[in-house]
Amino acid sequence: MNDRSPNRCHGPLIRAKGSEIGPNDTGSFSPHGPKIKILTMEDDDIIRRSMAAYLVDRGYTVLEAPNGRLGLEIFRAEKPDLMLVDLRMPEVDGMQVLEAATRESPNTPIVVVSGVNATAHAIEALHLGAWDYLLKPIEDMAILLHAIETSLQRAWLIEENRRYQEYLEESVRKRTAELEKTNVALNAEIAERKRIQAEREKLIEKLESQNSELERFAYTVSHDLKSPLITIKGFLGVLEQDLDAHLGGHCAGEISEHMTRIGAAADRMFSFLEDLLELSRVGRLVNSPSDIQMGELAGEAVDLVGGPITASNIQVCVDQNLPVMRGDRVRLREVYQNLIENAVKYMGDQPDPKIEIGMRRGKGEAAVFFVRDNGIGIDPRSQEEIFGLFDKLDPASEGTGVGLSLARRILEVHGGHIWVESEGDGAGSTFCFTLASPK
Ligand code: ADP
Repeated sequence: MNDRSPNRCHGPLIRAKGSEIGPNDTGSFSPHGPKIKILTMEDDDIIRRSMAAYLVDRGYTVLEAPNGRLGLEIFRAEKPDLMLVDLRMPEVDGMQVLEAATRESPNTPIVVVSGVNATAHAIEALHLGAWDYLLKPIEDMAILLHAIETSLQRAWLIEENRRYQEYLEESVRKRTAELEKTNVALNAEIAERKRIQAEREKLIEKLESQNSELERFAYTVSHDLKSPLITIKGFLGVLEQDLDAHLGGHCAGEISEHMTRIGAAADRMFSFLEDLLELSRVGRLVNSPSDIQMGELAGEAVDLVGGPITASNIQVCVDQNLPVMRGDRVRLREVYQNLIENAVKYMGDQPDPKIEIGMRRGKGEAAVFFVRDNGIGIDPRSQEEIFGLFDKLDPASEGTGVGLSLARRILEVHGGHIWVESEGDGAGSTFCFTLASPK
């Protein structure tokens, strides 16, 4: 008998190591290796012995019982792999043996070898659990052998099936336990994420409240500082008139120059405060959103900067096929206006100055609006810095350094963002921005 290892087959055990029964290499159930035990219950000594001799010759281990009572005792003590049972025996007959053995060990094959050629007997025997029914005398022992092998094979299949079932149940149990473990881990992770999310939301809320507090502060400060400035400017005028009156109609040169400087500084401070005020308003004062044809909006902004554009003889090209977007019209026009004003201001001595306003499709097909100039360009290292409050690359240039911060804030409020693309000195600049809600 061949002892097959479970690893030779997929997944389920075909046969556990050490199992007594199993097919040999040719698939038959003739025993090799560990012997298969057959118990023969037969009261006729000659028949019993001849069957036993034949089976021993075939390699089986044979246990013999001359009657049913002894047979059952051996059956319980030795647990044979198969039983050959005669129906007519003294003390305990074959039917009783069948009944008891089937009840106690339903998977032990029992082949009835009967001298009674009666269908009713055969039916009853099969009904009581016999696996096969042979008639005596057995003229060809190959028939007996065949019945034994077939029953052993069936028993083996039943056992394999049971093992396979067990294997499946065990696999399901294991997998369920694993899944439960994963589930617990997942639940813990979900809880942790929820906690982090709640913490984040709290933090954002706190930041937003701090931000609006700062905006309120900037608003109050810039607003309140404007009135003393207006007073300074006013009294500067009065002072000028007084001096004119005292100094006979005109201010002395040096005094006049100092007063002009005071006036210019006050003007400059005034525009700082105006810009700051504007910036502080962006997050708070929201005009109700409307549908905006972006080409039209850019055209309006170009008109607002018409004077400087004409003065610098700049060619402006606006793509009229820009899409419709939803947003705060006034604020978005300010963005365009600021970018166009900058394009004019930082054109340098370009002999053929040009500004192009258009749109391209970015990642995920989002609309990227741009204002491109062929002016002085921006060093890649400074391209982030210019969006900071009061940041200017040339401190001597006119302007407060607030414009791009303002544009960035407006676009943030619209769920978009702004950036610049430039290869540096003399290469021109392209300011790009996105908005959250395409129409
Ligand atoms: P301001 O123009 O008032 O200085 P902005 O915030 O609008 O302030 O711009 C910040 C700085 O970015 C500018 O001072 C300038 O150095 C640089 N800049 C902005 N736009 C351009 C441009 N189109 N070309 C080159 N440099 C630019």
